[in-house]
Amino acid sequence: MNAKSPDVIIVGGGIVGTSTAYFLARKGVKVVLLEAGDIAGGTSGACDRAIMIQSKNPGPLLKMALASAGIYERLEDELGETLEYNKKGGMIVIEREEEMKVMERIVDRQRASGIDVQLISRKEAIAIQPAVAPHIIGATWWDGDADVNPMAVCLAMTRAARAKGAKIVLNTRVDSFIMEKNRVTGVNTAAGPIRADRVLVAAGVWSPELGKTAGLKIPIIPRKGQILVSERIAPLINGNVLSGSYIACKHNPKLAEKAGQSEKKLGLGLSLGQTKNGNLLIGGTREFAGYERSTSSEAIKAIAANAVRLFPSLKNVRIIRSFAGLRPYTPDGLPLLGQVEGRPGMYMAAGHEGDGVALGPITGNIMADVIAGDQVDWDLFPFNPERFEDLYTS
Ligand SMILES: Cc1cc2nc3c(=O)[nH]c(=O)nc-3n(C[C@H](O)[C@H](O)[C@H](O)COP(=O)(O)OP(=O)(O)OC[C@H]3O[C@@H](n4cnc5c(N)ncnc54)[C@H](O)[C@@H]3O)c2cc1C
Repeated sequence: MNAKSPDVIIVGGGIVGTSTAYFLARKGVKVVLLEAGDIAGGTSGACDRAIMIQSKNPGPLLKMALASAGIYERLEDELGETLEYNKKGGMIVIEREEEMKVMERIVDRQRASGIDVQLISRKEAIAIQPAVAPHIIGATWWDGDADVNPMAVCLAMTRAARAKGAKIVLNTRVDSFIMEKNRVTGVNTAAGPIRADRVLVAAGVWSPELGKTAGLKIPIIPRKGQILVSERIAPLINGNVLSGSYIACKHNPKLAEKAGQSEKKLGLGLSLGQTKNGNLLIGGTREFAGYERSTSSEAIKAIAANAVRLFPSLKNVRIIRSFAGLRPYTPDGLPLLGQVEGRPGMYMAAGHEGDGVALGPITGNIMADVIAGDQVDWDLFPFNPERFEDLYTS
């Protein structure tokens, strides 16, 4: 393999791996990124496009999301590429009193954390989203939410990293770590071993498989999301839209209990975004269904019916395809970020569940500082991979 003696190996070419490669290469660190398939061939190429800050739990995740949003604002200029970045705001539509109570609490905490999200009346919501169904009882709105094309971000980060000296190796799966006692000193691939004294695991939902080869039980579980893609239509929505039930499925399973059987089983909640070309991305589900990535007619029907209920004019819009992606879920809703103390040389950046697009740039920025040994301006304690007691199996 022609990738001799890098300083750092990155495993995974999704938004987390490519962003870290870019920020490390910008520091002059010699990076090799190894990707089993193609750039954005995993979850970062099978997801929505929201940089939705107001959907984040107040606390460390919201703080990171805000910092990431700041990077996104200048990223097109910095990379010199179009990323379809749009800062047009975001709305969470509320249909029931129970959702309203939950949203009131979340909004209070978000406002205390410094974001100016508002609870607005039904009339105000309809003024912003004329296509929304009149039965809603209110909504939240924040004009700081944005969206972006995640595949364009991954590809642009890759090109920028390469331009700064990073080596990007596609179609090359990492089979295992090279270990000397507990220390990680490189990786084994079908094309041969590559040595480096620092290896970053950025393999999303596939990180546990790789972790096993270093005696680790990485607690990331795939959480499938199914999405419908519509034909191109004239602008229908302002910014991105989520339903209160989406937030419930994500943060508050008790609230989801009130939903019907099939909604509960599928973890159904509306997410609606529109691409620059006019296609709608209509979601979605949150299902624990292992690693299979097929779509199901049950979910497709349920997503479509839910979307038409909340945006009635969608009844006349054609769906042209559907896809499914796997969110890297962790038991406490936070990613694993930082050095793995018991495996010197190994770093982790994985487990961003449904927030990896929003958090990708700041994750890469922080991980580049951590791996380069530079000053890290973040408290990474909440993200410490060792917070999971049974991380080490040997
Ligand atoms: C339906 C859906 C909608 C979503 N919507 C949003 C949204 O609107 N906003 C948001 O912020 N987030 C969203 N997300 C979440 C977001 O997509 C993920 O959090 C993010 O893409 C994870 O990025 P990653 O780089 O960690 O993983 P991935 O993109 O999966 O990258 C990991 C890469 O590692 C490679 N790999 C795995 N094993 C190996 C190996 N052994 N050797 C070499 N390479 C390997 C894989 O091929 C893959 O390319 C959504 C997710 C889904 C499924």
